[in-house]
Amino acid sequence: MTPAPSGPLVPGAVIGILGGGQLGRMLAMAAGRLGLRTHVYAPEPDSPAFDVCIHKTLAAYEDEAALAMFAASVDVITYEFENVPARAAALLSDLCPVRPGPAALAACQDRLIEKEFLADIGVATAAYMRVDDAGSMARGVAQLGRPSILKTRRLGYDGKGQVLVREGADLAVTFRSLGGGPAILEAVVPFAKEISVVAARSADGDFAAYDVCENHHENHILKTSRAPARIAPETAVEATEMARAIADALEYVGVIAVEIFVVEPGGAKGRQELRVNEIAPRVHNSGHWTLDGAATSQFEQHIRAIAGWPLGATWRHGAEVLMENLIGEEVLDYQRILREPGASLHLYGKSEARPGRKMGHVTRIFRASGEAS
Ligand code: AMP
Repeated sequence: MTPAPSGPLVPGAVIGILGGGQLGRMLAMAAGRLGLRTHVYAPEPDSPAFDVCIHKTLAAYEDEAALAMFAASVDVITYEFENVPARAAALLSDLCPVRPGPAALAACQDRLIEKEFLADIGVATAAYMRVDDAGSMARGVAQLGRPSILKTRRLGYDGKGQVLVREGADLAVTFRSLGGGPAILEAVVPFAKEISVVAARSADGDFAAYDVCENHHENHILKTSRAPARIAPETAVEATEMARAIADALEYVGVIAVEIFVVEPGGAKGRQELRVNEIAPRVHNSGHWTLDGAATSQFEQHIRAIAGWPLGATWRHGAEVLMENLIGEEVLDYQRILREPGASLHLYGKSEARPGRKMGHVTRIFRASGEAS
């Protein structure tokens, strides 16, 4: 049972952050700007968030003594990743308010539970089937056809933990190639665009969404996000209402991101259709544009929400905002970006520019729409 938070935090209060990556780092920086302190808990000694917090705990998520000491030293706990081990989340939430709450973690850690939750509240997703063994795999493919996508239920990200089931592929071999554990088979959604809604819900139940943005991936990793997304206005409203329904159903507190596929209508008169792909119960890479491009950044918004404070305005600066991730050695170009007028550079303080690693990002704000090519 989570202890009830005792009213809004006051400046000087301490926010505990589980996870020490760039999201934790930017959360800690936003908290600092609001006069709040942060205590980051992470198992990696070179965690980027350790550079910008007041207290740190370097320990495993299985270290129950360290978790208990952490909980005793903070006023509220949040996290920068959804795969917080269930045992750690349960232990912490017995000792201290955890926001977003355990319902959000439970719904987002497992792709099958996530899809069932969305179906329960009437939000469309790709057609899916539960797969536990070679037999259910064969039945799933018979039902959903080929190609379809097999995904592990847990711990997948950036395209990891999933495989395309092609024409002619041996199903038992494909199932084993993902480890042979609990999985989910999804029909391929013939999407024209991938968009996301980044929004926040306050402790009082207020809801505020940013402009829907559209996302482009390279090698399964987010490369750019553009706000606003180039979709029909009614599609943007529908996407935002999906995020609101999800946040309300989870009694959510904090920033949430909902990744959605947009399918173009078959006929000239039809409407764009939406299918939710994934919910992230946290600040999200596709919301980084808000740091420079919106009245309140997603990081400040999350801190406001979990502190029990009012949400900030979400309006956008400029006609278009483009966020570009700097991945691997792309970051070595930072001197050129520093010289580019109006480009806002963010570096995460990671020492080694390994391939595929998110090292920083750059935001560009355009005054007229169409300027961002
Ligand atoms: P995920 O790990 O679920 O976010 O998937 C990574 C990427 O794979 C997505 O951004 C999509 O480009 C693609 N993808 C995942 N699921 C589907 C699907 N059911 N239909 C089409 N593309 C998908």
